[in-house]
Amino acid sequence: MTATTAAPTASNNITHNAFFIGGQWRAPEGSGRISVISPNSGQQIGEVPDGVEADIDAAVAAARAAFDDPSAWSGLPASERAAALIRLADEIDSRKEQFAALVSAQNGMPITVASQLEAVYPATLLRYYAGLIAAQTDDIREGMFGGVVEVRREPIGVVGAIVPWNFPQTLAAFKYAPALAAGCTLVIKPSPETVLDAYLLAEAVEAAGLPAGVVNIVPGGRETGAHLVSHPNIDKVAFTGSTAAGQKIAETCGRLLRPVTLELGGKSATIVLDDAELDLATIGNDLFVATLANNGQTCFLGTRVLAPKSRYDEVVDVLSAFAGSMAIGDSLDPGTQIGPMSSARHRERVEGYIAKGRAEGGRITVGGGRPDGLDDGWFVQPTVFAGIDNNATIAREEIFGPVLSVISYDSDADAVAIANDSDFGLGGTVWSSDADRARSVASRVRTGTIGINRYIPDPVAPFGGVKQSGMGRELGPEGLAAYQNLKSVYR
Ligand code: NAD
Repeated sequence: MTATTAAPTASNNITHNAFFIGGQWRAPEGSGRISVISPNSGQQIGEVPDGVEADIDAAVAAARAAFDDPSAWSGLPASERAAALIRLADEIDSRKEQFAALVSAQNGMPITVASQLEAVYPATLLRYYAGLIAAQTDDIREGMFGGVVEVRREPIGVVGAIVPWNFPQTLAAFKYAPALAAGCTLVIKPSPETVLDAYLLAEAVEAAGLPAGVVNIVPGGRETGAHLVSHPNIDKVAFTGSTAAGQKIAETCGRLLRPVTLELGGKSATIVLDDAELDLATIGNDLFVATLANNGQTCFLGTRVLAPKSRYDEVVDVLSAFAGSMAIGDSLDPGTQIGPMSSARHRERVEGYIAKGRAEGGRITVGGGRPDGLDDGWFVQPTVFAGIDNNATIAREEIFGPVLSVISYDSDADAVAIANDSDFGLGGTVWSSDADRARSVASRVRTGTIGINRYIPDPVAPFGGVKQSGMGRELGPEGLAAYQNLKSVYR
């Protein structure tokens, strides 16, 4: 292993030559390499081995052995596991800046966003789940037919955790923090686009002294992920990624009757009620998190903006001014609000949707092209479409870029109907100065989460989607329960 630098550039190309398996750095079984390309410059900034099926087999074997020895992890008193989770949180904290810089350099996340989320969320979750598991008490119930029943919460086993590139550290922690608290062991497969931060996580796990095999990390592509999903020695799959991949994974898990959590795509609604505050000086930050954060590459963003007919033009003007004011630039520059798309292929996809929006009659009020003077990276201007209805392709499909569509509605009931007229149901927001009215509208939107005048997934509350946005929940006590089997002991 080479030392990890804070902000990789083409001149300090970071290379790794092994995988973290069974508490050791193990040589890869294959000869392929994953090349990490900077979305800011198009230059290579890192290179790691590409995991193959035999690497997954070794990682699963290590995780299985660690799980099956109750003295290693799964059978430890909860307080001991909780202490280990806190140690890992401390090790992650001590690498905060490196995590933020590595993620930003690989996927184009603005460094300010990476510093506030990727560098902070994982340790926060570890501490939260350490507290929950340490506080979990025996559940003894008076039996109705005499005797008592002990309801045990046992760790579900070996977990295959598959993570996307957009929030690689946070979304890995959504899985490993509750899984480790419960007593599970894991094989984590990061996305090929974001592998360097996964090595930093492995270093933190090693430094925290977690027992060998409890956490194993093998970067690789979709075949490697598919092998992990169907591996006979896995007990549960936790997946975040696209709906298309989630459907394949669900099919495999259905055939194997294997528990699976699926956090998939979204096309959420930002519902602006007619009494909403629209002053950007007041709402700008919250609006950014809810609609454009991470260059639009965030699953829960409300990219369908529903505006009342009476204020339609005003909403379009405010959003256009907002999107047009964004500082676009190198993701590692602290002044940047919108960085590049994660890959050249992904930018093509986003630009394809912009072309489609135009072809279907949408009117671009701001953006629509590439920013001047940023020709080396994969940049797209934040773009607002007006004159779009909810049947347009760009209103129905997930774009995963900084593209907002403003759709007009007649009444609150109409807004709810349009919000619900979607294949997805992950997030969304309601903007209003009347709390009761906003809550009433929010309660009628079919979605796993929703915000009122703000949106941020909170560790204490279940996060996930309905319809094609997925199945199951992460975070909160429910996220811990997803890694526990219930066993009733009749005594
Ligand atoms: P992706 O589905 O292409 O890949 C996600 C991960 O799954 C990667 O590690 C990939 O290698 C792996 N993978 C792909 N196909 C697989 C298969 N058949 N079997 C096993 N593993 C497979 O998604 P992406 O492009 O990396 O991420 C973007 C998508 O993730 C978007 O659709 C976004 O909405 C979604 N996402 C959802 C949430 C959520 O919590 N709901 C959060 C973030 C991202």
